[in-house]
Amino acid sequence: MLLDTYGRVATDLRVSLTDRCNLRCTYCMPEEGLSWLAKPDLLTDDEIVRLIGLAVTRLGVTEVRFTGGEPLLRPGLPGIVERVAALHPRPRMSLTTNGIGLARTAEALRAAGLDRVNVSLDTLRPEVFTALTRRRRHSDVLAGLAAARAAGLTPVKVNAVLMPGLNDDEAPDLLAWAVAGGYELRFIEQMPLDAQHGWKREGMITAGDILTSLRTRFHLTPEAESARGSAPAERWLVDGGPHRVGVIASVTRPFCRACDRTRLTADGQVRTCLFATEETDLRRALREGVDDEELARLWKTAMWGKKAGSGLDDPSFLQPARPMSSIGG
Ligand code: SAM
Ligand code: SF4
Repeated sequence: MLLDTYGRVATDLRVSLTDRCNLRCTYCMPEEGLSWLAKPDLLTDDEIVRLIGLAVTRLGVTEVRFTGGEPLLRPGLPGIVERVAALHPRPRMSLTTNGIGLARTAEALRAAGLDRVNVSLDTLRPEVFTALTRRRRHSDVLAGLAAARAAGLTPVKVNAVLMPGLNDDEAPDLLAWAVAGGYELRFIEQMPLDAQHGWKREGMITAGDILTSLRTRFHLTPEAESARGSAPAERWLVDGGPHRVGVIASVTRPFCRACDRTRLTADGQVRTCLFATEETDLRRALREGVDDEELARLWKTAMWGKKAGSGLDDPSFLQPARPMSSIGG
């Protein structure tokens, strides 16, 4: 098991497949100038499958989420999904994507064994999408979402980040749209993980702001705490249900005490937390030819050192050197 000193057990593995992306979301990346990981430093498809296999067969991981950067940019993705689906025990598999290209690939990913997707969409307004992401791809994301739903990659969850002065007035419209389309919407508080270190706590849109805005149009009933488990999102029933809305309040209401995550970056580093400042280099160990026993030992040791929390509330908090796009969000 991947146990830490606070008694938490990591069963949910986030795997970043690339740090590259075809959007430039303002809360994630600068417009230009971000340097990418060098190709030889990226894990190969075989190395990724070996490490996921190790996590699933020896370390108790039951959920695998592919992310990035933009994971659909990784050419080997369907093959990786297919090989992970063949593992015993078979983990549940999902993908976090900006949705661009999903219209073309959703069926094949479903056939390869992917269970479901999270698609990021912050706005229903094409011009606001262009301002937020610096690319005119709004219609591609909507097409990707529809294709994911049609392919049965369900429940399709939609991740939205609200930014002051851009889309902070859109929470109720996004929820009405999600309810009508059968998508499960989750708002994510903006976190200090942007490559350009531009995050400011003052002025960020908080969970409290989001709920106040949603309640102008919807009746929200909190879901029982017991239904939450280790999920980072707090959830509410919308107008009595069955539709739900979630808020991931990593900044104002962190949920670290129930965290069940372990992370693998595209260059083969184990991270215990998005906000960790230390990493464990599994790529080097892999390429030095160590056996599975030793890789498992390194991974367990890394998790044993997991900190109690993100440290966001500590005045001495320092943003990690790696941005979200390189850690894998
Ligand atoms: N490119 C894919 C996407 O956008 O869904 C996957 C990677 S992205 C880093 C994963 C999620 O992190 C997205 O939902 C995105 O909105 C969110 N995200 C990125 N930067 C963030 C930040 N600074 N604060 C909060 N969420 C962020
Ligand atoms: Fe790309 Fe996702 Fe970051 Fe947006 S949030 S720039 S889509 S990695």
